[in-house]
Amino acid sequence: VSSVLRLAVDRERCLGHARCVALAPALFSFDETAERAEVLAAVVPAEEREAAERAYRSCPENAITLGEA
Ligand code: SF4
Repeated sequence: VSSVLRLAVDRERCLGHARCVALAPALFSFDETAERAEVLAAVVPAEEREAAERAYRSCPENAITLGEA
């Protein structure tokens, strides 16, 4: 049984580098108006777990939270 992996972006911390969007385009999109990243999938699909972890580790602002629910 695999657990559910939840993904979120803290919009207060996010500075809009869009690194997460480049690394995991299936999981993040860029809100041009707010200049912040948005999460496309709050629950990470199994095949996107690696991309989610890569984005999580690469965010310079530690704005991404990734955790088992
Ligand atoms: S990498 Fe981090 S700070 Fe940059 S857009 Fe993504 S969530 Fe925001």
